[in-house]
Amino acid sequence: MRSVCVFCGSNPGDRPAFVELARTLGTLLARRGTTLVYGGGRVGLMGAAADAALAAGGRVIGVIPQMLLDREVGHSGLTQLHVVGTMAERKRLMGELADAFITLPGGIGTMDELFEAWTWTQLRLHDKPCGLLNFAGYYDALIAFLDGAVEAGFLRPRHRAALIVDTNLESLLARLADAAGRPAPVASPAAE
Ligand code: AMP
Repeated sequence: MRSVCVFCGSNPGDRPAFVELARTLGTLLARRGTTLVYGGGRVGLMGAAADAALAAGGRVIGVIPQMLLDREVGHSGLTQLHVVGTMAERKRLMGELADAFITLPGGIGTMDELFEAWTWTQLRLHDKPCGLLNFAGYYDALIAFLDGAVEAGFLRPRHRAALIVDTNLESLLARLADAAGRPAPVASPAAE
């Protein structure tokens, strides 16, 4: 797993533990020699993860749309910063540059990114593993919703299982690295 795309809040959240978590992920990725790919901003958890990875000597690639350069304060100290035209291009390029995806706490932008990457797995548009860190129960309600979607027949159990959920960062990284080395466990709906 040479690179991981990190989706997380452009806000810092309501407690220091969120920022600490993002910093820990940045440091862990740098120590593993894994490139951090992210949305390219200086703000919130995004900036905290990037700063920590850089401080630990890691490689960080940002992808930011021109329209967000000011609002999310494009990070000027990254290994590489790609400025793209649209939000859709941002997600596409982040997806191309990464071997796996990890989602930390965040808002609706983070949810948009997680669900797009995960649906690409479901549709076999890529075979890159997606991980969700359920830090301090932040995603309990989302996980309950997803399990409800399986029960209601809208989400196949194996597609649900393709989202790797963990409460521990190091364990989630290890599971993603393991899954990144294997073919995707899901089949496309058309092939079923
Ligand atoms: P948030 O979780 O709302 O703080 O947003 C986290 C990141 O997702 C920010 O960099 C947002 O600009 C980004 N984002 C929000 N919506 C989209 C979208 N439709 N496509 C790509 N990135 C998005």
